[in-house]
Amino acid sequence: MRWVMHVDMDAFFASVEQLDNPQYRGKPLIVGGKSHRGVVSTCSYEEREYGVHSAMPIVQAKRLCPPGIFVSGRMGRYVEVSQQMMKIFAEFSPCVEPLSIDEAFLDLSGMEHLVGDITLLGRKIKMRIKEVTGLTASVGLAPNKFLAKLGSDLRKPDGLVIISAHNAKEFIAPLPVNKIFGIGKKANEALQKIGIITIGQLAACDELYLKNILGNNTALVQNLARGIDDRPVENTREAKSIGKETTYMEDLLTQEKYHDALWDLSQQVGWRVRNICLAGRTVTLKVKYRSFKSVTRSITTEVPVSADEDIFALVEKLIGQIKWAEPVRLLGVSVSKLVPAGELLLDFARDEKQQKRNAALDALKNKFGEHIIKRGK
Ligand SMILES: [Mg+2]
Repeated sequence: MRWVMHVDMDAFFASVEQLDNPQYRGKPLIVGGKSHRGVVSTCSYEEREYGVHSAMPIVQAKRLCPPGIFVSGRMGRYVEVSQQMMKIFAEFSPCVEPLSIDEAFLDLSGMEHLVGDITLLGRKIKMRIKEVTGLTASVGLAPNKFLAKLGSDLRKPDGLVIISAHNAKEFIAPLPVNKIFGIGKKANEALQKIGIITIGQLAACDELYLKNILGNNTALVQNLARGIDDRPVENTREAKSIGKETTYMEDLLTQEKYHDALWDLSQQVGWRVRNICLAGRTVTLKVKYRSFKSVTRSITTEVPVSADEDIFALVEKLIGQIKWAEPVRLLGVSVSKLVPAGELLLDFARDEKQQKRNAALDALKNKFGEHIIKRGK
């Protein structure tokens, strides 16, 4: 039987700060830069009572919560704790897919035979995390990724939610539709207008009614509403490179088209790299032409990159090294020679505006899925 576990630390950055600084405990705390232009990265549960949440501008958070304590964060310390967590995950499963600095999917399929009751593994991993890091995590255990992530989010903080294959559909039916990733504010409102409030109603609705609202995602979203999600847990923990390639429905003919496509790919790769707290020194561009001939060019820099703009700047250099004589069928961008990003991620001095913009966009993507937002150049 398939079992996926999703582990997610509770208010991660804020909890680390409260752990290391006893004077912050029990108080509303916001991590996310002291500057007025910044956004909230994480806030403590005390702060959430004031209505503050991730990706909110600091200025707004200050207005909502005057007694809040604002700190700029220590990415190096968070990466250190993250690495402790990843070690624990490896004790529980050979197949771990980190989603961000403080959460991961673990494939536990078949392990119920070893432990008798899969619930035990959920309890055990929470205990191990508490013991090693001093922090609490919330855990969801379910037959697939969607249900596991939904489960870990349901009883935060310090939650443990098991959704089994036979009760999945009934379990999620009464929940509001915005628990499904990809259903943002707009789609949620549109669904409400046609009387769809719960996941159960969404699951039962005729596909034709949903097409107008959900478009191409209709089948995917409706499958999720029925508790179906076949995406495998991808073991990316030990990745040597992180990349993304796309074969285009129509060959790309103009310089503008492939520039845009490569900017798109750079953003997708940047997000993935930042999500697991890495940066890379080598950027590789792959081009496959209509004739199926392909070329690959790489460039290596002194300073590791992870920002969309930095990755794309290197891609642009590579664009100049390639003859674009033929229509393009496939493009790929990847980042390799990976190193832990550490303080680099909070190196605001370098380009504060860019860093914070990326952080805000990443927070949105992590919450609602990668396709929630696309940036122009
Ligand atoms: Mg978390």
